[in-house]
Amino acid sequence: MANVLILGGGFGGVIAAESLARQLSKEHQITLVSRNSKFVFYPELVRLAFGKCKPQDISFDLREAMLDRRVRFIQAEVARLKPKSRRVVLVHGEVEGELPYDYLIFALGRRLATERITGFYEHSHNLLTLEGALNFGEALGEFHEGRAVIGQCPEARLPVPVYETAFALARCSEERGEKDRVKITVVSPDTADVEFGDAEIARALRKALDEHHIEHLADFPINTVTPGTVITSNGHAINYSLLMLLPPFRGPGAVRGLGITDDEGFIGVDWAMRVQGVERMYAVGDCVNFSGPKMGHMTVHQAEVAAANVALEIAGLDPVSIYNHDMMMVIDEGGGDTIYLHKGLWDDQPATVRQGRFWSWAKRVHDKYWLAAHS
Ligand SMILES: Cc1cc2nc3c(=O)[nH]c(=O)nc-3n(C[C@H](O)[C@H](O)[C@H](O)COP(=O)(O)OP(=O)(O)OC[C@H]3O[C@@H](n4cnc5c(N)ncnc54)[C@H](O)[C@@H]3O)c2cc1C
Repeated sequence: MANVLILGGGFGGVIAAESLARQLSKEHQITLVSRNSKFVFYPELVRLAFGKCKPQDISFDLREAMLDRRVRFIQAEVARLKPKSRRVVLVHGEVEGELPYDYLIFALGRRLATERITGFYEHSHNLLTLEGALNFGEALGEFHEGRAVIGQCPEARLPVPVYETAFALARCSEERGEKDRVKITVVSPDTADVEFGDAEIARALRKALDEHHIEHLADFPINTVTPGTVITSNGHAINYSLLMLLPPFRGPGAVRGLGITDDEGFIGVDWAMRVQGVERMYAVGDCVNFSGPKMGHMTVHQAEVAAANVALEIAGLDPVSIYNHDMMMVIDEGGGDTIYLHKGLWDDQPATVRQGRFWSWAKRVHDKYWLAAHS
């Protein structure tokens, strides 16, 4: 009998647990540990902030979902790992102390390094939690004139909600008849005109921004936020009436000091999602050190690969399932300028870009289906 421990109740943990439950026979034990008892579907947080859905529409109870799949769920905080003795230290939860494992899948996501931007915590909204999105929603309700600054701080690595927020705000101001009183500025630390490192994507995005009169400021690396002003490390400053920023991302604290992370704390893994230098440990999702943006669909694929390889190892076989790193996303503009893009990040092939109202509809359908299938 093998004892498989999965850490994190986000996309990575849930998919790894489900895949393993399908592949392993009943004598093996699968346990999922997470800080919260709820799974939150992050890609819907922009719509939550704009009042288009409710928290209960985009979250589900992890314990129930796991029970249905014969996975034991423990609500607890993971403090640190002891890979040599194959133990995880849990605090503040249903189980406290050291939990042993035979195989580990680590999926604790990223840490929000708000401390790297002076004044971020005090003055900026963010969209990275249910509470953050609801608070931002309240601020949106009170915002009727002035400049809204929306963007990523250096090393944030999550462009989709930035553009979706800007488009949703543009539409909202139009509907309220406040278009002429509201200015929307998207800021990016990237030096390229608009993100994603591909000319066709940039053209599609630029067209959509121009149509909504959304200003885009590239090479704008924010390092300080004061009440009413954002300031960059290269000497620029702009005023704001409403601010939504994504802070820098870092790897999770529980693996700090183990010698398995890069300078930003992200875990080094190979293409089989094995943690380099550690036996029987896999890592998936926002916590790993792959290049490019950090996205849910990448996490899902990585979790499937890790689960397949753990199942192979348990069966005494080589872990031969391999992950391929590509970027696939829909930037929902709410109408005909919605962009679908797909680009391999480990090859030189040009991106596939499509634009049209269909993709906005397809994203909604996909999100609903995903939640129904996994809750
Ligand atoms: C607003 C927003 C919009 C997005 N839009 C898209 C999109 O359109 N398309 C797309 O592909 N991706 C999108 N993403 C990105 C996607 O949501 C992430 O890439 C994905 O959630 C990463 O999954 P994960 O399992 O690695 O981490 P997470 O989803 O962050 O899950 C980590 C889990 O671990 C738990 N945890 C963390 N630390 C501890 C601890 N110490 N102890 C116990 N538990 C802990 C957390 O509570 C959480 O349950 C979006 C993200 C956001 C925030």
